Amino acid sequence: MQTFVTEAVDWPETAPALREQVRALVAEHGERDPVRRANSWTKANPQFSKKLGEAGLLGMTWPKEYGGHERSQLERYVVIEELLAAGAPVGAHWIADRQSGPLLLRLGNEELKRRWVPAIARGEAFACIGLSEPGSGSDLASVRTAARRDGDGWVLNGQKVWTTGAHVSHFMIALVRSEAGSERQQGLSQFVVPMDTPGVSVKPIIDLTGAHEFNEVFFEDVRLPETALLGTEGEGWKQATAELSLERAGPERYLSSMVLFLELVRYAGAKQDMALQQLIGRLTADAWTLRLMSASVAAKLARGEDPALEATMVKDLGNSYEQAIPQLVQAAADLGDTDAATLRDVCFYLLQVSPSFSLRGGTREIIKGIIARGLGLR
Ligand SMILES: Cc1cc2nc3c(=O)[nH]c(=O)nc-3n(C[C@H](O)[C@H](O)[C@H](O)COP(=O)(O)OP(=O)(O)OC[C@H]3O[C@@H](n4cnc5c(N)ncnc54)[C@H](O)[C@@H]3O)c2cc1C
Repeated sequence: MQTFVTEAVDWPETAPALREQVRALVAEHGERDPVRRANSWTKANPQFSKKLGEAGLLGMTWPKEYGGHERSQLERYVVIEELLAAGAPVGAHWIADRQSGPLLLRLGNEELKRRWVPAIARGEAFACIGLSEPGSGSDLASVRTAARRDGDGWVLNGQKVWTTGAHVSHFMIALVRSEAGSERQQGLSQFVVPMDTPGVSVKPIIDLTGAHEFNEVFFEDVRLPETALLGTEGEGWKQATAELSLERAGPERYLSSMVLFLELVRYAGAKQDMALQQLIGRLTADAWTLRLMSASVAAKLARGEDPALEATMVKDLGNSYEQAIPQLVQAAADLGDTDAATLRDVCFYLLQVSPSFSLRGGTREIIKGIIARGLGLR
């Protein structure tokens, strides 16, 4: 049976300077609207991403040969933590910097790496994840989008859904069935699909707040060269699931409501309200614990370990925390108070979007199943 060991994190000496650098950038180019600063890692602002790229804050851990900066995982952690806590609009580059770049570096052929990785590090190329399909979300092994060999390339047909940021992305990493007639996890492969390839079309899905964050993506006789295959043909399932550690480990899994927490602290500052003070104390203690757990996962990743179980636990606990904040604020604060206008706006926005926090990146029930298996309980 595995256990979750939280270790003390040895923060890099460069951390204070990095924090200052990010704070200055956010103060100059960040988002001012408090509602848009909540759940900010889904809010795309390509200009802001470009600024981060110019400042050397994207692709931080990647080799210099591919436009990276060869900094440590914990230095990167410090930067993304600062960006999220400030509610910076990082949505455009988030997926590319977090998982598509590392995946390309690990498995991509030279052509794919040279084409995409330096552009991601400059904040000029953005990516989306093509896993879910209608009828294939939690049950990912049922994907039906198909790639068939055609001459010296491939032809793609099918549909993806809930594709975050497809409308601002330059490429998708898609999981598709590359062996006709194969079943479940067998015969799947990953392909890098430039979004401007003829036959790729993107249709917006507007969420209940009126925002356009995700999409349906259709592939109609999309022709791809042989070099579009990422990694090994038929190994797509293994490759895609390994990527999920990167997707689940980060501080974005508990910081989505942090702007509301900070608004609560601001609002409570002028009140003598014991219930509010207690709530702030409780939320602070929980945030601190989650931060230690999440940073501990980053330290393990930095040592080249695969803390898949720990990452999954942080996601589950983190999602519960970020979902709870708007409900607790609604219960504790007088949102009708004239001083509470900003608090109310951010709270109402998060009450609408937070149910999705435990769906994206794998639903709660699936995550609990993975944890149970990791702990030997299943
Ligand atoms: C904000 C947001 C962004 C997203 N972005 C992306 C993206 O960029 N790319 C992408 O590919 N996908 C994305 N998704 C899709 C997401 O990964 C899927 O929604 C998720 O995997 C669930 O799949 P589903 O919606 O088909 O629900 P279903 O799989 O139909 O699940 C419905 C319910 O049944 C439960 N359930 C299903 N199977 C089991 C089981 N075996 N045991 C117990 N309970 C079960 C689920 O937990 C859930 O509560 C996003 C989703 C959201 C909400």
